[in-house]
Amino acid sequence: MTELLQGIVLKYQQSNDNDLFLVSYTREKGKVELFAKSAMKISSKLRSHMEIMNATQIMMAKGKNIDRLAGCYSLVLWNNLKKDYDKIISAMSLIECIDKMIEVGEPDIRIYDLLYSWLSFLNDNTLPKENIKKRILIWIVVLKLLKYLGFGPEVFKCTRCHHSIVASEHLFSIHNGGIVCNDCKENNDEVISVSALKVLRYCLDEKKEIKVILKDLVRMKVDNKVWHELEEIAKDFFVFFAGRDLKGIGLMQ
Ligand SMILES: [Zn+2]
Repeated sequence: MTELLQGIVLKYQQSNDNDLFLVSYTREKGKVELFAKSAMKISSKLRSHMEIMNATQIMMAKGKNIDRLAGCYSLVLWNNLKKDYDKIISAMSLIECIDKMIEVGEPDIRIYDLLYSWLSFLNDNTLPKENIKKRILIWIVVLKLLKYLGFGPEVFKCTRCHHSIVASEHLFSIHNGGIVCNDCKENNDEVISVSALKVLRYCLDEKKEIKVILKDLVRMKVDNKVWHELEEIAKDFFVFFAGRDLKGIGLMQ
């Protein structure tokens, strides 16, 4: 039995000279790992379509132990993205997180859309000149991914008393997974500035499309120290929930 899937190539590994394993995140089935016999041979029609960061249509054949790649052709190549080192680093940061943090067979169309939108954004837009802003764009897509995986961060309600938060100076608790109101304050909580909280709330609002958020972030003018504050929060959060050994390529420099 074969199935047609749309997926974005996360990685491939060569085995036995000409065979390979393809790992892709698909709309329909989430992460899949597929075996392709002789796919690395120069004569193979599959070879050129399986580049990392391609959006592809793949034909999956059910196997006893491992599913097989019966066909593959590219739908979107994102060539502009692949010509720019900073954009590749940015793209690979999310790809690495998706590959490392998600098991096979847990589909979530929001994650497929996040990855597709991120690669399209990188392909179609000029990155900001400032390195901190380039990293903030990555952090925001990674925080979105963490949110879809159920790890927050919660930025709309107090994580202790669950009351809605109005914009004033508040605290942030990594252990609690988000914002804490002044009434629930504990010693280890960090202060988060109103500006940083506003940016986080805007970026993590479920109703806003990620491609709009990313374009707004590029244009957004806030004090440089707010970007650095956001990066510190995002980094602490990421390390706490994803672990230090997951370097997220462009993130942990
Ligand atoms: Zn509270």
